[in-house]
Amino acid sequence: MNNREKNGEEFLRKFPKFRKWIVECKICHKRGYRLDLPSKITNVDGSLEVYFIKKYFNPLSLDEDKICECCSKVLKRVK
Ligand SMILES: [Zn+2]
Repeated sequence: MNNREKNGEEFLRKFPKFRKWIVECKICHKRGYRLDLPSKITNVDGSLEVYFIKKYFNPLSLDEDKICECCSKVLKRVK
């Protein structure tokens, strides 16, 4: 785990309610935030949650099997 991932994990430990925006590829366990993350997820003015989520995680799109694009490409090549 690099520092950014450690900070991200720490952030999620403190604010577990944001875990629902974080997805994980079930093959390589790469994590990222859902592409449908809105720019504001709480009603608190000036809240920085989205800023931190984007700081600690990259956008990650998973297919319907919860597999990231890289792994899905590899799988298709193997088939
Ligand atoms: Zn993957």
